[in-house]
Amino acid sequence: MPGKDVDLAVIGAGLSGCALVAALRTHGWAGTIQLLEAGRGPGGRCATRRRRDDPLWRLDHGSPTLSFQSEPQGQLRELIRSLEQRGVLRVDDEPVVGLDHHGAAVEPPDHPLLRGPRWRGIPTMATVAETLLADGSDGVDVRFGERIETLSREGGRWLLPGGVRAGMVVLSGTLLAHPRSLAMLGRSDVPLRDAVPEQDDPVLDQALAWIADLNASVRWNLMLECSAVDLDPLPRQIWLTSQAQQQFGVERVVLQVQQQDRLGLVIHGLDDGALITPETQPLLLKAQEQRLLAVLPELLAPWPALQRILSGARSLGVMRWGAAQPLDQGMPQALQWCRQAGVGFCGDWIAGPGFGMAEGALQSGLDLAELMASQ
Ligand SMILES: Cc1cc2nc3c(=O)[nH]c(=O)nc-3n(C[C@H](O)[C@H](O)[C@H](O)COP(=O)(O)OP(=O)(O)OC[C@H]3O[C@@H](n4cnc5c(N)ncnc54)[C@H](O)[C@@H]3O)c2cc1C
Repeated sequence: MPGKDVDLAVIGAGLSGCALVAALRTHGWAGTIQLLEAGRGPGGRCATRRRRDDPLWRLDHGSPTLSFQSEPQGQLRELIRSLEQRGVLRVDDEPVVGLDHHGAAVEPPDHPLLRGPRWRGIPTMATVAETLLADGSDGVDVRFGERIETLSREGGRWLLPGGVRAGMVVLSGTLLAHPRSLAMLGRSDVPLRDAVPEQDDPVLDQALAWIADLNASVRWNLMLECSAVDLDPLPRQIWLTSQAQQQFGVERVVLQVQQQDRLGLVIHGLDDGALITPETQPLLLKAQEQRLLAVLPELLAPWPALQRILSGARSLGVMRWGAAQPLDQGMPQALQWCRQAGVGFCGDWIAGPGFGMAEGALQSGLDLAELMASQ
């Protein structure tokens, strides 16, 4: 069969997958790597939206920042320092304001994403994953626009699209393992379970059982192009209090200054639990766009200058983000590497400091690299 053999296939080029690849090289792990990513570029939920019709437009339409629980330690601190020194990260100290259920400006709510230090990708959030990928690029083949929907194993090797055969596979998202997320893919079974029968690898059995208990979390992010606004200081994030979030169905509004006297707005809409399937998604995207456009003027009432620019705003559509997230704590690190089956997991859903946020994603990639490099 034509194709190629690699030592490792990594599925997903989000922060965790890119951190893993970079850290494997730092540890001197010299194997060949095939990285497969469904999106058009690296970054995952820390990606940046570009426009074909407008080469200067860059909008961080997922996470606007890298949040940490506390000052990073050890290898993670080294990584952040190195990215800072190269101008890829800078401390994110731009104003965050709160909004309550009466639509009044208040102190920002107490939220894990706002409690500790934060960094921002320069010039965009996608630059962080792009740089990590470049750091680990030696011997790495990257294919974008490649959504893996099935996984199979033959003769102890993983078979992937394009005739790729890999000795080991790492999943950085959980969609291939998470039963409740499968509706989004229109599948009824779990591809990873098909590939490795029960009891072949007890660690993998435990990991899959744990993943099945994750919560699917969805965000509907409306993107807007507006004209520049004369407002000093310009808030970077407007965070709704929990009561306001319930009332408006919005978590926050993020503002990002653009070139050519423009402002990008991202309204982070919360999920209402509607069933998302390949069939229902187009209608849901339209409905969410209308809902978020309707609620926005009320959210911006404390900032009349911002409210005014809405009249000339242009909608750039809604991005649906899907993630699987644990309620209390992440998957135990002991289940991150299933050696017998040659399956690894990384992502912000692995236990450790900062799980559920960018810190956890980066840390999980570093931890997995250490485990794999030490065997
Ligand atoms: C709207 C939003 C706001 C956020 N705000 C913050 C914040 O303020 N601060 C903070 O610290 N964190 C925030 N986060 C969380 C942060 O973005 C994540 O913790 C982090 O980006 C997760 O990285 P990851 O690598 O674990 O996962 P992901 O970024 O989800 O990466 C997984 C990658 O795998 C790819 N993939 C998945 N399945 C497949 C498949 N079958 N085939 C091929 N590729 C696949 C995906 O396309 C993706 O690129 C936010 C997230 C969202 C969605």
